[in-house]
Amino acid sequence: MKLTKLDYDNAVDRDLYSGLIRLHILHHAVEEPIFGLGMAEELARHGYRISPGTLYPLLHGLEKKGYLKSKQVREGKSLRKVYRATPRGRKALIAAKGKVRELIGELMEGKERW
Ligand SMILES: [Zn+2]
Repeated sequence: MKLTKLDYDNAVDRDLYSGLIRLHILHHAVEEPIFGLGMAEELARHGYRISPGTLYPLLHGLEKKGYLKSKQVREGKSLRKVYRATPRGRKALIAAKGKVRELIGELMEGKERW
């Protein structure tokens, strides 16, 4: 079976992939400042189609948990909200990497039992 574009805004996919999307956002916010539209494009590049109506609450949620911190940056005439990972966000990502590595190991073991 070949999977093409994952539609993240499909409710089932959203449940299944929301943790991955959060980790993906956190990963990029550790590396560089991110903003909503840029992050939506990055996720689309990986095959997750995600609408602003879904993405912005994720960003706000990560900020509320203290993993991201935002500030307004002037871009020409408009203001853009830019996010960076906090020290707490960096720690959370490091912890998550261990779990993701373990999961990938298990997922890729290659024993299909069905
Ligand atoms: Zn990426």
